[in-house]
Amino acid sequence: MKIVVAHLYPDYLNIYADRGNMAVLERRAAWRGIDFDYRTLSVGDTPAPGEADLYYVGGGQDREQALIAPDLADKGAALVEAVAGGAALLAVCGGYQLLGRFYRDRSGAELPGVGFFPLHTVAGEKRMIGDVLLECELAPGEPRTLAGFENHAGRTFLDPGAEPLGRVVAGFGNNGEDGVEGCRVGRAVGTYLHGPLLPRNPWLADWLIAQALSRRAGEPVELEPIAEDFESQAHRVAAERARTRGGRF
Ligand code: GLN
Repeated sequence: MKIVVAHLYPDYLNIYADRGNMAVLERRAAWRGIDFDYRTLSVGDTPAPGEADLYYVGGGQDREQALIAPDLADKGAALVEAVAGGAALLAVCGGYQLLGRFYRDRSGAELPGVGFFPLHTVAGEKRMIGDVLLECELAPGEPRTLAGFENHAGRTFLDPGAEPLGRVVAGFGNNGEDGVEGCRVGRAVGTYLHGPLLPRNPWLADWLIAQALSRRAGEPVELEPIAEDFESQAHRVAAERARTRGGRF
C-alpha cells in the first residue's frame, strides 16, 4: 500500500513547524507498512491530474502569501478537480485562507484565492494568538477534540451553510466571534491550528491517511489502531493549556 502526498509551497508556507505535519503522516503510515511517496509543488510547478492522494499546504506571513497567491490561484482548477476526484487535503492558516475566495491582508491588498473553501478572510488590527481547543466530528457519531496553536490577523467568515471543522471550546477560531473554527468540504480540511497540528492530534493524521488510501483504493479503507501514549499526553497537555489560557487578546 502507498499514498502519494503533494506538499504545496514548502519553501514559502512553513511557519510554526507546519512541516512537522509531514513527518507525523510519514511515521504513522510507515508504522502500518504504508509507503509514503512525498512530492513538492511550488511556484511554477504544475500539478499532474490524479497525481496525489493527499495535498498539504502550511501557513505563512502576509509577505510569503503575496509571493505565492497568483501561482496558487493558477493551480486552483487542478486542485479543485483533484479533491472532487477523491483526493484528501489539509490546509493550515495562511494556506487555508488562500484556498478560500480571497485574503485581504493588513496592507489592504486583496490576495486572490482558489475559491475551493466557501469563505473569505479579512485581516484585522489585533492578531489572534494562543492555544486553541475544538470539538469536532469528522466521522458521524465519533466526537473528537483538536488541540493546537493559532497566530493570525485574518478573520475568516464561512458562507451560509458551509461546514466548519469544529466548535471553539477555547481560543479565537475563524474570527473570534461566531464560535467556529476551520472549514470542511468532504475529504478536505482547512484550519488555523498550527503547533504543528498532527503530533498532538494523531486521530486526524490517521483520518487523513485513511482518506488518501480510500482515494487510491477506490473504496473506504479502515486503518488498524496503533498505540498513542506520547501523542495522547501531548493532546491532553495542549488541551489543558487551551482551556486555561486560550482566546485572550
Ligand atoms: N498571514 C496570515 C495572517 O496573519 C496567516 C498567518 C499564519 O499562517 N499563521 O492571518
